[in-house]
Amino acid sequence: MEKVIRKAYAKINLGLDVLRRRPDGYHEVKMIMQTVDIWDQLTFTRSAKPGIMLQIAGAELPAGRDNLICKAAELVMREMNLNEGVEIELVKKIPIAAGMAGGSTDAAAVFHGLNELFDLEMSLEKMKELGVKIGADVPYCIMGGTALSEGIGEKLTKLPPPPECVLVVAKPDINVSTKFVYENLHANRLTEHPDIDGMLQAIKDGNLTGITQRLGNVLETVTVKNYPVIEQIKTVMKEAGAENALMSGSGPTVFGIFTQERRAQEAERRIREEGLAFQVFVTGFYNEEGEGRS
Ligand code: ATP
Repeated sequence: MEKVIRKAYAKINLGLDVLRRRPDGYHEVKMIMQTVDIWDQLTFTRSAKPGIMLQIAGAELPAGRDNLICKAAELVMREMNLNEGVEIELVKKIPIAAGMAGGSTDAAAVFHGLNELFDLEMSLEKMKELGVKIGADVPYCIMGGTALSEGIGEKLTKLPPPPECVLVVAKPDINVSTKFVYENLHANRLTEHPDIDGMLQAIKDGNLTGITQRLGNVLETVTVKNYPVIEQIKTVMKEAGAENALMSGSGPTVFGIFTQERRAQEAERRIREEGLAFQVFVTGFYNEEGEGRS
């Protein structure tokens, strides 16, 4: 293949629980991950010049070796003993440092993209095994869809897609460091935990109300205190008719789940008008065709 084009989808967390902080500093999590129809586009082209060339459009991001795209590509080349050249073009649409796994999903697209471009025949398992070396969310992004994520994020169980709905995703114009959020989370002192098991059942039953009633993210205990705009966006979404709203990952992105497009558009309009966020999407869950309910 001379050229491969791939979409790298963003994720939200329908549920995010932290079970404990391990003595080694890692947090043991229990999360429900869901891909959404917001994506970056990556184009991979073979090049006569060996090595990796990255070009980025749509965002101010470093295009050097620190970029997760380059890290993933270097890892694949090393592991597969590839001495080839590849040009990668990223068109960035996913909000950055948002709690939507933007970097991790780009890295995941690199595994798939290079696999196809160079006919490497890496299995999904092999790609996930390599992916975790780049980041805890990368194996999930390689798989996509709806999944339960446990351990530090590497233990994945595929779930059926939830019922269709309309989503509003809003990224307020603030920077929240994932490190700050986890450092300020008192994981061993949390008194309330989201009902992840109940949500798993609701997903299996195709029960949207059962899902929306159980949205929960323990990281909100840190961010909502420090960044009131998160609660303000949730309130506007609920006033506009969201079934429920939640912060995704370590934030600051907030999503609302709606059953009516009209209400979702009303929420988008108000969030923009009140200046709570400028990056606002009316979108939906993304589950690949053929992933159907079992
Ligand atoms: P997560 O949900 O996994 O915490 P995030 O959405 O909060 O991810 P990212 O958008 O992945 O955060 O970006 C975090 C940092 O990673 C950015 O500040 C950026 O400099 C760096 N980074 C490296 N490569 C990329 C990439 N391809 N896309 C976005 N950010 C990248």
